[in-house]
Amino acid sequence: MFAIKRELKLNNIEISLMRGNAGFKRFVYNYGLELIQASWDFEGVKASDSKRIDAIKKVFTSWTMQKPEYAWMKLYSSTVYQSAFIDLKNAFARWRSCLGGFPKKKSKKKGDSFTVYKTAGIYLEKGKPALAFTNRVVIQAGKQITLPGLKQLRLKERIKFICSSQTFTVSRTADKWFVAFVLDAEKIPPIIHPIEKIGVDLGIKVLATCSDGFKYDMPVTTKTAKTKLGKLQWHSRNKVLGNKKLKIRASKNARKYYTRLAGHHARIANIRQDTTQKMTTDISRKAYIIRIEDLNVQGMIANHKLANAVSNNCFYEIRRQFIYKQAHYGTKVELVDRWYPSSKTCSKCGYVQDMNLSDRVFNCKRCTHSQDRDENASTNLENAPKEKVRLA
Ligand SMILES: [Zn+2]
Repeated sequence: MFAIKRELKLNNIEISLMRGNAGFKRFVYNYGLELIQASWDFEGVKASDSKRIDAIKKVFTSWTMQKPEYAWMKLYSSTVYQSAFIDLKNAFARWRSCLGGFPKKKSKKKGDSFTVYKTAGIYLEKGKPALAFTNRVVIQAGKQITLPGLKQLRLKERIKFICSSQTFTVSRTADKWFVAFVLDAEKIPPIIHPIEKIGVDLGIKVLATCSDGFKYDMPVTTKTAKTKLGKLQWHSRNKVLGNKKLKIRASKNARKYYTRLAGHHARIANIRQDTTQKMTTDISRKAYIIRIEDLNVQGMIANHKLANAVSNNCFYEIRRQFIYKQAHYGTKVELVDRWYPSSKTCSKCGYVQDMNLSDRVFNCKRCTHSQDRDENASTNLENAPKEKVRLA
């Protein structure tokens, strides 16, 4: 699977339409969540969560939606509430299999989102041959997109090729709106990789060092943005966004501050996402086998000195991206054992020696080979023995 996410360029009318759709989804989700909990009070009714949600959906469609006070719901696409129920089902399934907490009510504060999709169907008109519709929306290359049930919308960045998808999720982070959709991998031509095997050393100083000599840096902007964020948070350390229990209402300034803060966080996250996405795509394009260290991310975050750098460079996220891009680029991601001494081994003669974290250059004590620490490590990852490597 391969996903595309683009920022939408919306005018005020479109923004309120998106807010309306998100509000509809929130309403339906919370409605379903309340009713399913209420249904547990009736003893003697034995049914799975999924069956209960189906029954609630029936009540919603044939009764709640028909009430005059809910006439506004007819303004929105029916797939919005259908997918709200699907979301609810998934949330309960995750909770039942201990993958997530108990489903929480959706709130405006946590951001907006909703999903629309195209349904397959047949169009009949007297005296004319029946027309069958596919469930896929064709998206033309360019800066426009037409979502099912919504009109044409503008994008900030163009889509580079013609493609198709069924389901579209619109979401808001701070004051930016995005649309995301998934393409099927088999619809994309296979790619020839110029390099057979590459070792990628993920680092603290440099984001990634590859065994073909290429380096990827984290842009300096994240650092400046982080400093700004730190200052903002320190200056406003006593600001409180109201308190429901004490019935203190949030001040206008506090609200303004929290909107700004969310914007800052989103900006940093965006820069990071952008850099890591480009890096993982680039490497997935050029190499067939990608070897990275199987890092104990939990252990490194516990080490306070490394913590910021680790979460900053988001090793785990990079690994996730490499793995999900396998299907799209036809790559193979391999993890090298955590205890394999990739930075302590000489990439030329194999001699193992101690290295301090501060040593930036590897100087071999046996063959006098001298190489940048990260480059040496990436070569060792590429050439790691088979028994130290497992498929991700
Ligand atoms: Zn050596």
